[in-house]
Amino acid sequence: MTATTAEAGSPIAENTELQSLRADVRAFLAEELAAGTFVPAVDNWMSGFDPAFSARLGRRGWLGMTMPTAYGGHGRSPVERFVVTEELLAHGAPVAAHWIADRQMAPGILANGTEEQKQRYLPGIASGTLFFAIGMSEPDAGSDLAAVRTRATAHDDGSWTLSGTKVWTTGAHMAHAMVLLARSDGEPGDRQAGLSQFVVDLSHPDIEVRPLRSIDGEAHFNEVIFHDAHVGPDALLGSRGEGWAQVMGELAFERSGPERYLSTMPLLRAWAEELRRAGATAEQRVTLGSLTARAWALRRMSLSVAAELAAGGRPDVRAAMVKDLGSAFEGDLVEAVRAACDVEPRRAGGEPFARLLANSMLHIPAFTLRGGTNEILRGIVARGMGLR
Ligand SMILES: Cc1cc2nc3c(=O)[nH]c(=O)nc-3n(C[C@H](O)[C@H](O)[C@H](O)COP(=O)(O)OP(=O)(O)OC[C@H]3O[C@@H](n4cnc5c(N)ncnc54)[C@H](O)[C@@H]3O)c2cc1C
Repeated sequence: MTATTAEAGSPIAENTELQSLRADVRAFLAEELAAGTFVPAVDNWMSGFDPAFSARLGRRGWLGMTMPTAYGGHGRSPVERFVVTEELLAHGAPVAAHWIADRQMAPGILANGTEEQKQRYLPGIASGTLFFAIGMSEPDAGSDLAAVRTRATAHDDGSWTLSGTKVWTTGAHMAHAMVLLARSDGEPGDRQAGLSQFVVDLSHPDIEVRPLRSIDGEAHFNEVIFHDAHVGPDALLGSRGEGWAQVMGELAFERSGPERYLSTMPLLRAWAEELRRAGATAEQRVTLGSLTARAWALRRMSLSVAAELAAGGRPDVRAAMVKDLGSAFEGDLVEAVRAACDVEPRRAGGEPFARLLANSMLHIPAFTLRGGTNEILRGIVARGMGLR
């Protein structure tokens, strides 16, 4: 996507530097596609785990973009990072390995970590060689995250014992580390008070990772069990008891990016290509046009959130709105293409487009759940608007 004259002069207008960055990413992706290193897929930011691809992005300086150079980052703006992530997502590139680390763990560790934690984790994130999982949800604590029961018991020497179970942990079977939300003080009834964050290495012998198979037959996420895992004082991330405020900061990064409306863009691009080759009916043109118009409106909204983050603002309500509208759009796109195209979805065999369509359909249920359900996001929007 490129800037239009309508954007000229606005804070999100694309200057020549951004245009040249975008051209570089497109050229890189064209080379990768020509070399056959990946097949564009929907939702590849969650399920396309390719460490070698992540390392290549790291070498190009396209990970840890907004991090200081002192920690291996590149000191660039959130809008520059947006341009890179937008192109990767729209092309369906396999970016899952580094996605969580680059998106939310790097800013979280930068904001709350000790100098030792920054030195230990950030350079690996920027080089695309150190991957993270998110340890928030539990069997009885999803939307109601303050109900977490995983316990962190403090010892006199400053070390901790972690006990409990996390669930729906994307990529934990392949990640090196996890940022975990646990109760360090008080009782579950204390809700947000008494929670702390920990950064733990998943190779720990008392941390068990069990895969959970989803409807597409793949195992992208897991149950992660802490069997009284003993960790050192250096595992505490930020301040003891401040975990809730810290996790809310992390969620702002988790919810606000272009992956919340571009997960299924590779299907739209593939369909447009099919229509270009085979010709389109008037009805198909209308469907293509209306989906493109929705994507464009979402992009403008998402970019304005990125611009406000760049200016140091906290656009939580608008980010929730974009995620609600964007994740609904991701599913609508698949349904609209399925209804408008004359192709039978196929899990195996058949044409690549038939497989892409089948794969897209199986991913629909996740879009409006992950990162906070749409009902919860609407609650945030309503409260932000002063509604009760
Ligand atoms: C693909 C995928 C990947 C995920 N990856 C991770 C991960 O890496 N790490 C992690 O920690 N978690 C992860 N999650 C978990 C995700 O954050 C939770 O699924 C989500 O927060 C909802 O929690 P829940 O599944 O327990 O549903 P529940 O909270 O039990 O909700 C069930 C239903 O009730 C509705 N509901 C609940 N409370 C309210 C309310 N107050 N008002 C209105 N409606 C309500 C919800 O909207 C939902 O429809 C992932 C989930 C998915 C689907």
